Amino acid sequence: MLFSALLVGGCAATLASNEKLLSPKAQSEQPRAAMKKPRPPTTTERDALKEECQQFLKEVARLRAENQQLQAENQQLTEEVRQRLKENSAFRERLVENSQLLQDIKALRDENRELREDIRKVLGAEKGKERLDAPQATPAAKAGTVSTNAPPQGVLNHWLTTSSGKRHNSKCPFYKSSTGTPCGPKAGKACGVCGG
Ligand SMILES: [Zn+2]
Repeated sequence: MLFSALLVGGCAATLASNEKLLSPKAQSEQPRAAMKKPRPPTTTERDALKEECQQFLKEVARLRAENQQLQAENQQLTEEVRQRLKENSAFRERLVENSQLLQDIKALRDENRELREDIRKVLGAEKGKERLDAPQATPAAKAGTVSTNAPPQGVLNHWLTTSSGKRHNSKCPFYKSSTGTPCGPKAGKACGVCGG
């Protein structure tokens, strides 16, 4: 563009100076130039000027073609950038969604852990109560009578979960909540939560 501007300038300047040589008005405005007797441009000068202008026009045509090509390329690149930006924003949306899901999972895990702790605390408190209750029953036991609180031997007061083979006591949330059968205090494996 700069190159063509220079060319335009050059060509225009050449034309202008040529004009001055020809124009009587230009002569009157410039007394010094008027001192010299004006001479019409020689054929060689005119040919040189013509040649210069033709070259200039060719250059302009070449630059126009180049410009057109660059504009097409630019359009293609713009389209590509637009496409990439679209992909990028879709990706970002998925990322946000993903991190939201991860946060939800984490919150659920925390909640789950708290609930497990609550269950353990409740179960621990129940066991503590039983222990506190136990000494009150001892005098009766000492007296030789069977405590009414203690289950008679052979009573199936536990629950055996069929699928896991684990034994739960009556305080356990899994007690009779899973498919299984009533069982004694030594059947199967003790549950990790209630202790069986
Ligand atoms: Zn259990």
